[in-house]
Amino acid sequence: MLLPLLLAATAGQGAAERVSSGLNVELKDVPTVTTYGDEGAFDFDVFIIGAGSGGIRLAKTLSRQKQLKVGIAESRDFGGTCVNRGCNPKKTLVAASAFLTDMEQATAHSIWNVTAEMSWNSLQKWRAKKVSNIAKFYNTSLKGTRNVEVFEEGARVVGDHQVEIGADTHKTVRLLVLATGGRPRRMSFPGSDLPNVITSDEALELKHKPTSMLVVGGGYIAAELASFFLQVGADVTMAMRSSLLKSFDSDVSGLVEDSLLRRGLHISQGNVPASIVQSSRSNMLEVEMTDGQKLEAEYVLLAIGREPLTADLGLDTVGVALHESGKVPVNKYGQTQAPWIFAIGDIVAGGMELQPVAVKQADHLADVILRDSSINTAPTVQPPVPDEHVATALFATPRAGSVGLTEAEANKRFPADVTVLVEKSEPCCSAIYSWELRKVVYRTSDERLLGIHLAGKGADELVQVFGIVMAVDPTWTQFKSALPVHPTSTEYFVFMNSYKSKRKGNWRLSECPASCPS
Ligand code: NAP
Repeated sequence: MLLPLLLAATAGQGAAERVSSGLNVELKDVPTVTTYGDEGAFDFDVFIIGAGSGGIRLAKTLSRQKQLKVGIAESRDFGGTCVNRGCNPKKTLVAASAFLTDMEQATAHSIWNVTAEMSWNSLQKWRAKKVSNIAKFYNTSLKGTRNVEVFEEGARVVGDHQVEIGADTHKTVRLLVLATGGRPRRMSFPGSDLPNVITSDEALELKHKPTSMLVVGGGYIAAELASFFLQVGADVTMAMRSSLLKSFDSDVSGLVEDSLLRRGLHISQGNVPASIVQSSRSNMLEVEMTDGQKLEAEYVLLAIGREPLTADLGLDTVGVALHESGKVPVNKYGQTQAPWIFAIGDIVAGGMELQPVAVKQADHLADVILRDSSINTAPTVQPPVPDEHVATALFATPRAGSVGLTEAEANKRFPADVTVLVEKSEPCCSAIYSWELRKVVYRTSDERLLGIHLAGKGADELVQVFGIVMAVDPTWTQFKSALPVHPTSTEYFVFMNSYKSKRKGNWRLSECPASCPS
C-alpha cells in the first residue's frame, strides 16, 4: 500500500488546505447521532443545509434509520448545481449536439449524403424538461419520506446547536451538515455586469442560439461550453490567462485544443477582457482585452472557476473560521472546528469540486455518524478516495478522460523513474472524427500504474473503467496481460509498449505541412 500513501501525501493546493485542517483526529472523538448531545432533546438529530447531490444523498441514507429526525433546507432548486445548472443540463446539450460529429463521420468519403438543421427551441425545451423531471424527482422523493422534513428556504447557524430557517423559524439540531455548494465566480472590470456578460448558469439556458461568444477561462467549464457553442455553429473565441485545460495531461489538452481549432475555435492566449461596452449599433459587446486587442461578441461567458456559498451560513457565531478560499476546513471525518458541524461537497477546503466526490463524502459521513460507537474504523470523508483514484471526463468534442497523475506530475514526483506510453492519431492528414489519444504512465522501478489518459470518441464512458482499474492499483504487466478486444481502437491500450513514444513528427496541428497527399 505504499503507493496510495505516497500519492495522497502530495496533492498540491488541495493537500495544503487539508493538512491545516487536522487530518489526525481520532474517530472516538467524532460524534455519532446517538452518542452526541445526551443533555437534551433536539428538534432534529441531523439537519442538512443544501439539497444538492451530497445533501440529498445524505438525507436519503439517514432517512432509512426510521428513529432519526432529519431536516433539510434548500433556498434554490432541489438537486443543486449538477442537476439544475451543471452536469445534467450540460450533458443534455452536449449529447444532442454530438449528432454533428456523427454526421462528420457519415459524410466522410461521400458514403452518406446528410443535411440537417438543429432546432434551438426544441433543444432548450428538451433540456428544461430533463432538468425539471430530475429536480422534481428529488424534491418529491424527499418530501414523501416520513422522517425527513423539507424546508424550501435558506438556513444558517445562529448559536450552539441552533439554526434559523428562513426569516423566523428556529430549530435545535444535534448534528448539522453543511452542503451548500457553490456558484460561478464573476470578474470585476468596467462592463462586467452588462446583461450579456454571463456565466455557465445563464449560458445553458439561452433563449436563442448565439451568433458569437467570447469564453473567458480555460478550465473544464470553459472548454466544454466553448466546444458546445462551436458545435452548434457559433463563432467562438476562448480567452485564457494561461493555457487550455492546464490540469489535464498536456498530450490530452493538446489534442482537444487542436480539435477545437480545426473546428473553427479562435484562441486568445495570455489575455482576458479589460473592459466591455454594449455596442450602440448592434446587439454586440465591444471587448477590449488586457493586451489592447479589440474583439466583438454577442455574449461574453465568464468561466473562471466557482466560489463556495458559505458567507451567509453564520459560522462565525460558533467559532468556525473559513479558509481564505471561503471554503470550510474539515478533518478527515468531515468535521469542522465546531464538533457538531460537518461539511461535504464543493465547500470543503481541499476538496475536489465534483458531484461524485460529494456523493461519496455523503456516504462516508453517513458511515461515520451512524456507526456503532464501539467500532473504531470508518471511511474518511475528506478525501473520500485518494485524489489519484478520481476519474473525470471532459464533455467536449472530442471527449477526454483522465485518472491519476499526468506525465508532468509523475515526473515531478518520481524523477527519472517514470515510463510513458503514448499513442495518438496524427493530426495533419487524418479525418478529425478519428483523432484519438491513449496514454499510460507508470513508475519504472515497480511498474505501478500512475495515470491513464485518453481522448476521442467514447473517452467519457471508457474512463470509468480505467477509474476502476486504478482503484485496484495494478502494475503495467498486470494491466497489459488483458486480452485485446479486436477490432477496437482501445485494444491499443494493451499493445502500447510496441508503439513506445511515437511523439515525433507531426504531433500537433501547428507542425503540419501546408498540404496533404491526395
Ligand atoms: P477550473 O477548471 O478550475 O478552471 C478555471 C479556469 O479559469 C482556469 O483556466 C483558470 O486559469 C481561469 N481563471 C481563474 N481565475 C481567473 C481570473 N481571475 N482571470 C482569468 N482566468 C481565470 O474551473 P471551472 O471550469 O469553472 O470548473 C469548476 C469546477 O467544476 C472544477 O473544479 C471542475 O473540476 C468542475 N467541473 C468538472 C467537470 C467535469 O468533470 N466534466 C465539468 C465542469 C466542471 P488558470 O489555468 O490560469 O488558473
